[in-house]
Amino acid sequence: MQDRYFQPESLMMTHGYKPELSEGAIKCPIFQTSTFVFNNAEEGKAFFQVAYGKREKKPNEELGLIYSRLNNPDLQILEERLCLWDKAEECAVFESGMSAISTVMLEFLRPGDVMLYSMPVYGGTDHFINKVLPEYGIIGIGFTSDQSTEEILQLVHDKEASEKVKLVYVETPANPTNALFDLSVCREVADRLSSETKEVVLCVDNTYMGPLWQHPLAHGVDLIVYSATKYIGGHSDLIAGAVLGKSKYMKRVRTLRTFLGNMAGPWTGWLLMRSLETLKVRMTQQATNALEVADFLKSHPKVEKVYFLGHLEPGDPQYEIFKKQHTSAGAMLSFDIKGGEEEAFLFLNHLKLIKLAVSLGSTESLAEHPATMTHSDVSDGDRLRLGISEKLVRLSIGVEHFTDIIWDISQALEKVSVVEKEVMLK
Ligand SMILES: *Cc1c(COP(=O)(O)O)cnc(C)c1O
Repeated sequence: MQDRYFQPESLMMTHGYKPELSEGAIKCPIFQTSTFVFNNAEEGKAFFQVAYGKREKKPNEELGLIYSRLNNPDLQILEERLCLWDKAEECAVFESGMSAISTVMLEFLRPGDVMLYSMPVYGGTDHFINKVLPEYGIIGIGFTSDQSTEEILQLVHDKEASEKVKLVYVETPANPTNALFDLSVCREVADRLSSETKEVVLCVDNTYMGPLWQHPLAHGVDLIVYSATKYIGGHSDLIAGAVLGKSKYMKRVRTLRTFLGNMAGPWTGWLLMRSLETLKVRMTQQATNALEVADFLKSHPKVEKVYFLGHLEPGDPQYEIFKKQHTSAGAMLSFDIKGGEEEAFLFLNHLKLIKLAVSLGSTESLAEHPATMTHSDVSDGDRLRLGISEKLVRLSIGVEHFTDIIWDISQALEKVSVVEKEVMLK
């Protein structure tokens, strides 16, 4: 029995792993195996009874190892460690963020159902909601961060969909503008659309802030999804996803994962365990750097506007949500460069240290142009409405020395003015 509550970062090296089961190895080995040998037929039978839900686990009984599509030590230990950050009952890891998201949607929605979703959402998620799900008779209704509970409910009412909503799906902060959604509003919407015979599940994509800076389960959310490709992986060297929440929902998610077969492999699980050991130091340093970069950009004459949570001010409703839901402003920021696409591209093309690439939350700083890259699939009208203009540049801040990041941004911004002058002289 543990007589002290250890913080998650103190447990990331050891939690859930028993060296005596692996020749005393201090680190969990990679269990690169498809299947597991039973000691006898009775044991095989007992394991299957639990795995297929034919009997409940006995007290202290662990789920026996059967086959790597059902479970594998590298996934199981990783899942137990991921649970610690969000204080979740259960976790299931997937081979990508998209497979985590699509599995949740397929499990909680049926033909004829409606999903309410926050706008904007990640491009792949948007595609799945608006292009794939309609083929299965499932319709999405989008809402924005400035809409109140009553306005969102009215939206659903106007479409005669109140009886059909089964899932509320939220991504906050919204990518790339950092617009915040109030999770208590989302919870209220889900509750008011629920009835005795119909439970509306609330799911949050916590990729942008988690698992360190926002804990949606503590705000009444039912399920969290992650692209573990981002902060959790943190080194731009793998693709993975995770879903966390109460056992009641997770049993359903895990079962569908077993039969879709989209669990992560042992090697990815092992890499993620390695990443988790440094999660807090990486994310903390990234946030410290981001604050320095945001302050620098704010006062730069070539920059029109900076979108950074750390710059929100008291009195702004967004500030109130920020204070309630976040423990840090994070390491993602965007800014409007003075000009348009041409100026944004000049800036991006002259960066020397920061890499021009999509993705986020990694050790290296990244820059991209949402309007023509990550959000090019969003309709022109929606892009305009959501503030994703031609002059918007998105930055993901890494762990480099902040003075080097700022030097790079500064010299690239200078190039923008040099070329402008050349044009004017002609
Ligand atoms: C990257 C990302 C996803 C998709 O994750 P993959 O691991 O690329 O499949 C989903 N949501 C958000 C917010 C993301 O940034």
